[in-house]
Amino acid sequence: MDTDIDMQDLIKRWQRAGVRAQEEKVRVIDLNGEYRATSSSQPLESYRLWPSEYGWACECQANNEHLMPCKHLAALADALGIDVLSDTRTIATVPDAETAATV
Ligand SMILES: [Zn+2]
Repeated sequence: MDTDIDMQDLIKRWQRAGVRAQEEKVRVIDLNGEYRATSSSQPLESYRLWPSEYGWACECQANNEHLMPCKHLAALADALGIDVLSDTRTIATVPDAETAATV
């Protein structure tokens, strides 16, 4: 059931997320086995990253609510060498994501 997913759009979003992660120096830190992503633009903010059943997920609004690529997962992919398209939780990997992916 991979009907209305626009992969080109998704790839562009990942590319932008990767650029933002670099520009904003997003770091991935390992806190006792739990990964978190920090952002230099919001020094006191960090987002939890965890391996969900659909791939790596992030608790920020973009990924958690809209299943969209985010700079935190882009930074994690860079750090761990994972494939953002197949190993992260987005509209491409969650089976019935149409309702969530209306943005
Ligand atoms: Zn995120």
